[in-house]
Amino acid sequence: MVLTEKKICTNWSGDIRFSPAKIVVPENEEQLRQVVQEAIANKLTIRTIGARHSCSPIFETDQILVSMENFKGLYEYDAEQRTAVIGAGTTVEEAGEELFRVGLALENTGHINKQALAGAISTGTHGAGKELKNLSGQVTGIRLINGSGDIKEFDEEHNGELMQALKVSLGSLGIFTRLKLRVLPRFTLHRRQYCAHTDDCLANLKQLMEENRNFCFYWYPRRDDVSIKLWNAPGEGTAELPYATLYKEYSGWSKDVLPTTQRLKFNELEYSFDHETAPHCFQEIRQRIKAKHRKHLAWRVLYRPVAADTVFLSNAYNRNIVAITIHQHASLPYEDYFNDIEKIFQSYGGRPHWGKKHSLKAPQLQQLYPEWNRFQQIRKRFDPNGIFLNDYLKNVFIG
Ligand SMILES: Cc1cc2nc3c(=O)[nH]c(=O)nc-3n(C[C@H](O)[C@H](O)[C@H](O)COP(=O)(O)OP(=O)(O)OC[C@H]3O[C@@H](n4cnc5c(N)ncnc54)[C@H](O)[C@@H]3O)c2cc1C
Repeated sequence: MVLTEKKICTNWSGDIRFSPAKIVVPENEEQLRQVVQEAIANKLTIRTIGARHSCSPIFETDQILVSMENFKGLYEYDAEQRTAVIGAGTTVEEAGEELFRVGLALENTGHINKQALAGAISTGTHGAGKELKNLSGQVTGIRLINGSGDIKEFDEEHNGELMQALKVSLGSLGIFTRLKLRVLPRFTLHRRQYCAHTDDCLANLKQLMEENRNFCFYWYPRRDDVSIKLWNAPGEGTAELPYATLYKEYSGWSKDVLPTTQRLKFNELEYSFDHETAPHCFQEIRQRIKAKHRKHLAWRVLYRPVAADTVFLSNAYNRNIVAITIHQHASLPYEDYFNDIEKIFQSYGGRPHWGKKHSLKAPQLQQLYPEWNRFQQIRKRFDPNGIFLNDYLKNVFIG
C-alpha cells in the first residue's frame, strides 16, 4: 500500500486545490478495510477519488484521501447473461477496451471516457440519448466497504431499495470496490456532425430526440449557431437534415465513436430539466448570454437528453430530462457567469449535476428529490460516524 504524506492535489481543471494529511493507495480490500477501521478508531474522515474529473469539491479533504487506482480490470463476465464484474477504479476507457476483447460493450458513455467507473456512476454521469439512462443505469450489483469497515455486497434482485440509494451516492455510503454491470454485445455506431442555425435546430428538436439513439447539440454563443451530433446503428436515425450542413462523419466500435478527446480544460455548471421546460430554459439563457456574457466567454453550451430512472439522487429521478451544461475555459473567471446562469437554472426547477459547480444546500436540494429523506436514513445507516463526509457533503446533506 502506497502512503504519501501532505501533498497538493488538484482536480482535472486545476480549480480545486487541497492538501490531504495522507493519500492512501490500497492494493486490495483488506488494506482498504484497515484504512477505514483506522479512520473510525482515530475519528478521521476519508474521501475517495476516481479520476478527479469533478469540479465540485466533492472529494476535497485535509484528512485521508483514498485512490482506487489498484482496483482495476474485468474480473468476471457472462456473455449470455450480458453481465460483467469490473473493478471500481477501472476507467470507462479501460472498461470499454476490456469488454471489447470478450465481445462486449458498455451501453453508453459520457462526452469523454477518462472517468473511473465508480466516480462516474457516483455522480450520475450521463451521455446523450432520450432512451439511455445515466451510467448508473447499467449497474446491477455493488461491492463496497461501508463506514463501519464492513465489506458488503448488494444486487438489484435482493436489495432493490438500497441499490437505488447506492448507485448515485456521491461516495457517501462507502467505498466501492467492484461493480456488476449490464452490458451489450459489442456494436458499431455511425457518428454524424452537422452545423445549423440555432432556431432550425430548436424547431426540429423533437424529431432529433425521437429518431436518434444518441443526440446532443452544442450552442456556440459567439456565432449563435449549433453543432448537432447524432450517433446511430449504421443506416438508422434521421436520414436527412435539410436545414443543416454535414461537416464530419465516421463509423466504428461504440467504445471509439461515443466519446471524444477533451484537451482544453474547463469548469462547468449543469442542471437538468424535464422535456417541456428545457427548451424554454435554454432560450432564456441563450438571450442572457448574448446580452450579458458573450464577450467574456469563448465556450459552448451543451444540450443533452437522458432517460428517467428510479435512483434516489439521480437528476433523472422519475423524469426524462435534458441536461444543459455551460462551460468556461479553466484559465478564465467563471464565478459571475455561473452565478447569473445558475439563478435562471434554479427558476426552472433544475436539479444540479453532482460532479459540477452548484451552490445548492440541503434545504433546497430536499425540495428537488422526492426520496431525499429515504436516502439520508440509508446514509446514516451506512456511515454512522460520518467518516465519508467533507465540508461540501455536509452542506449538501445537512445544510
Ligand atoms: C472533460 C470532462 C468531461 C465530462 N463529461 C461528462 C459527461 O459527458 N457527462 C456527465 O454527466 N459528466 C461529465 N463530466 C463530469 C464527470 O463525469 C464527473 O465529475 C465524474 O464524477 C468524474 O469521474 P471521476 O472518476 O473523475 O470521479 P471523481 O471526480 O474522482 O469523484 C467523483 C465522486 O465519486 C466518488 N468516488 C470515486 N471513486 C469511488 C469509489 N470507488 N467508491 C465510492 N465513491 C467513489 C468520489 O468520492 C466523488 O464523490 C465531465 C467532466 C470532465 C472534466
